[in-house]
Amino acid sequence: MFTSINPATGETGETFEELDGDGVEAALVRAEAAFASWRVSPVEQRTALLTAIADRFEANKAHLAETATREMGKTLVSAVAEVEKCVSGFRYYVEHGPEFLKGEELALPTGRAVTHWLPLGPVLAIMPWNFPYWQVVRWLAPTILAGNVGLLKHASLTQGCAALIQQMVSAAGAPDGLFQNLAVKSDKVSRIIADKRVVAVTLTGSEGAGAKVAEAAGRALKKVVLELGGSDPFVVMPSADLDEAVKTAVKARIQNAGQSCICAKRMIVHADVYEAFAEKFVAAMDAVKIGDPMEDGVEMGPLSSVEQRDTVLEQLERAVAAGATLHGGEKIDRDGAWMHAGVLTEVDPEADFAKEEIFGPVAMLFRAESLDDAIRLANEVPYGLGSSVWTNDADEQARLVRDIAAGMTAVNQMLASVPGAPFGGVKLSGHGRELGPWGLHEFMNLKAEMRG
Ligand code: NDP
Repeated sequence: MFTSINPATGETGETFEELDGDGVEAALVRAEAAFASWRVSPVEQRTALLTAIADRFEANKAHLAETATREMGKTLVSAVAEVEKCVSGFRYYVEHGPEFLKGEELALPTGRAVTHWLPLGPVLAIMPWNFPYWQVVRWLAPTILAGNVGLLKHASLTQGCAALIQQMVSAAGAPDGLFQNLAVKSDKVSRIIADKRVVAVTLTGSEGAGAKVAEAAGRALKKVVLELGGSDPFVVMPSADLDEAVKTAVKARIQNAGQSCICAKRMIVHADVYEAFAEKFVAAMDAVKIGDPMEDGVEMGPLSSVEQRDTVLEQLERAVAAGATLHGGEKIDRDGAWMHAGVLTEVDPEADFAKEEIFGPVAMLFRAESLDDAIRLANEVPYGLGSSVWTNDADEQARLVRDIAAGMTAVNQMLASVPGAPFGGVKLSGHGRELGPWGLHEFMNLKAEMRG
C-alpha cells in the first residue's frame, strides 16, 4: 500500500494499493496492444487527444491543485500555476507538434533521402513528487504526439496525483492502454525496464535513482533520458540591478520550499557588491512568509516530508561543523515537515556539503573576486543543470553563457522551464533533453528512406 501523508499536518490521508506482478504484466500487454494501433494513428487524432486532456486538466484545476498541496506541501497558488503550465504544455504540442514530426528531403551524391520521425513503442517514465503534474506532462504530451505509449511510475509520495493524471487522460477518451499509471515501488522498476515490450526509459529524480535506472537500461541496451539534481549558481556582478537580483534570488531559492532541481542554490556575488547583496538577501530570506500552504499570501509551506526536511537539517549541521555560518534555517517545532528559510555564509567551496544539492529553502552565499573567479565557483560542483546570471555588461553575459557548464543559463531573470525551450543538464545533472522538438525526438526513430 501507498499512504499519503500531509506534510503540513503529519496527518495520514488516502491509501493506494500497489500493483502486483500480474497487474504489471496485464499493463504491459495493454501497452503493447495500444501501441499497435496508436503508432499508425493520424496526427490529428493525437492532437485532438492532447487538447481533450488539456481541457480535463483545466476543468479540474482546483481538485488537482488541492491534491498536490495535500500530498507534498506546495502552496496552493503554485499548485494551480503548475496545473495551468500543464495545460499550456499540452497545447504547445498541439500547436507546434505536427511541424516537428515532418521529415526532410536530403540531396545525396547517390540520389536522395527522405527522413521520417517514427514512434518507438511503450516508454517508461519514473517521476518525482516535486512537480507531480508538470514533470509527468512534459514527458506525456510529446509521448502521445510521437505515437508512443506511456507507462508511469510516479513517486510514492504523490500516488493521489498519479491516479488523477490517469483519470484525466482516460476521461479525455484515450484508447485503453495508451497511458497507464503503474502504482509500483522502485524495486519493481528494473524488471519493467528489462521487459522487451518497454523500449526506453526517462527519469527525473536523484543521482542515485538515475544511476540505478541507467544501469538497468544499459543492461537491456535501451535509451535513457535522465534529469537529475542540480546546485544551480546565481551569479551577481557589479552592474546588476541589485534589488531586482535580491528579490529574484529569494524567489528562485524558496520556490516549492526549495525543492526544485533548478532552484538557485548557490549565490555567487562579486566582491564589490557582496556586502550589500548579503545584507539584503539574508534579511529577505528571514522575512519569507511561512504558513498553511492552502492559504493565500503564504510564500512557503512545509517541505514534502519529514524525511526530506531532516535530510536538509542534517546537511546544515555538517555545514556548520565545517565552519559555515547559518542565518535562519531552523527546524520549526510542530507536526509536519516545517523549517525556516536560511542562508549559509563563510562557506568553504571545497567542503563536501558545498558540492551537494540542498533540496530545501537554504542558500549558500559565496564571494567572487572577479568574473573568472565567479565562473570557477559556478563550475565547482559536479552538477550542471541550470544557472542564472545578473550583469548588464554584454561581454560578461557572453562569457557566463559560454563558460558556465550547465544546460541552461538565464540572463537577468529567474530560470524556469518553458515548453518551447530545451530543458536538461550536463555532468551529474543527467543527459538528454526534454521539451520542444528535442524532447519529442528523444524517443523517436529517425528513419532514412533512401532513393536512387
Ligand atoms: P528519488 O530520486 O529517490 O525519487 C524520484 C523517483 O525515482 C521516484 O519515483 C522514486 O520512487 C524513483 N526511484 C527511487 N529509487 C529508484 C530506483 N532505485 N529505481 C527506480 N526508481 C527509483 O528522489 P527522493 O524522493 O528520494 O528525493 C531525494 C533527492 O533526490 C532529493 O533530495 C533531491 O536531491 C533529488 N530529487 C531531484 C528531483 C529533480 O527534480 N531533479 C526531484 C526529486 C528529488 P519512490 O518515490 O517510490 O522511491
